[in-house]
Amino acid sequence: MDIRCECGQFRARLRSFPGNSPGRLVCYCDDCQAYLHHLGRDDLLDTNGGTEVIPAYPADVDILSGRDQLKCTRLSPRGTFRFSTTCCNTPIANTRPDMPWAGFLRCVFAAEEPDRFERLVGPVRSRIMGRYANGTPPAGTPDKFNLKAMLSVMPFLVKGKLMKKARPSPFFAADGVTPVVKPEVLGQ
Ligand SMILES: [Zn+2]
Ligand SMILES: [Zn+2]
Repeated sequence: MDIRCECGQFRARLRSFPGNSPGRLVCYCDDCQAYLHHLGRDDLLDTNGGTEVIPAYPADVDILSGRDQLKCTRLSPRGTFRFSTTCCNTPIANTRPDMPWAGFLRCVFAAEEPDRFERLVGPVRSRIMGRYANGTPPAGTPDKFNLKAMLSVMPFLVKGKLMKKARPSPFFAADGVTPVVKPEVLGQ
């Protein structure tokens, strides 16, 4: 599956997708909301302030073009590395060094064929951090995490660790920990 920023300068290919993915997850946490607010992309939050991500393994991601358009934002010195593009201000993925996890935002999955995306990836698997939602999130959304959320992501993380899928990551240098672009750290 290929993904892209809104203007198309940044493109990447996710190998083994959606096979190697826990599917669609929605996070209502204040950090995810603060990040899109910081980017001025509140338009990407759902009606309850949720951010939808579809994780892939970093080692399964090939950047095809636009690597130089990446920028990195961290909400705090210990925060998640959140990559977006400078060309058209599209949030791309949230990740961490040495984690077999790159959570790609829903907006980067080719919008020309929304039906194909739905067919391939299916419905939202789990929703988390409902305590930060605006209004009432969909029924069954836990305050923080629940068993359903754990069961959605744990097998993906365990398999990713065993298969060493955290590296190489297109978002970090060969050492696995240095981001490819110097992060802007907020809240300092
Ligand atoms: Zn762009
Ligand atoms: Zn979140």
